[in-house]
Amino acid sequence: MNKLDLHSKIYRFDNDDNLYFVTIILVDGKPIADFSYYATSLTELNNTLKQNGKYFILTCWCGVPDCAGIEQGIQVTHYQDTVKWTINQPSPHRVFTFSENDYKAVITEGIKQIKEDLANLWFTHTGEYNDKLEIVPRWEDNQELIELLNIHR
Ligand SMILES: [Zn+2]
Repeated sequence: MNKLDLHSKIYRFDNDDNLYFVTIILVDGKPIADFSYYATSLTELNNTLKQNGKYFILTCWCGVPDCAGIEQGIQVTHYQDTVKWTINQPSPHRVFTFSENDYKAVITEGIKQIKEDLANLWFTHTGEYNDKLEIVPRWEDNQELIELLNIHR
């Protein structure tokens, strides 16, 4: 059985002063991709709780999987008390198996924690709004994500 974890991480670059908020997916303690290039779609991840299918859990920072060379989503299969991920893109080909209970708990708790992390970052200690914070993948047009994270700004 593999172990799934979600973490949030802030990226900064020399050419702007934004704070880029990225969700990192770890399996057995290791990031499953280079998250300075790929991003995690929380809405797709959340959708995997419901049913089997192919999900663009990994996407480009801009939110378009194709843009990062991902044409094939991660195959998610619920079987007995497990959830299996088959990843073909980005390479290498990998198969992970999680316990269904852990899987649900990690994603549900992870999204809750991300909401808290965002709330803490969006407002400074003086209560001022931090307009340098950007959620990756690009979130402004993503109504599903806005609802999932319950964003008010
Ligand atoms: Zn892109």
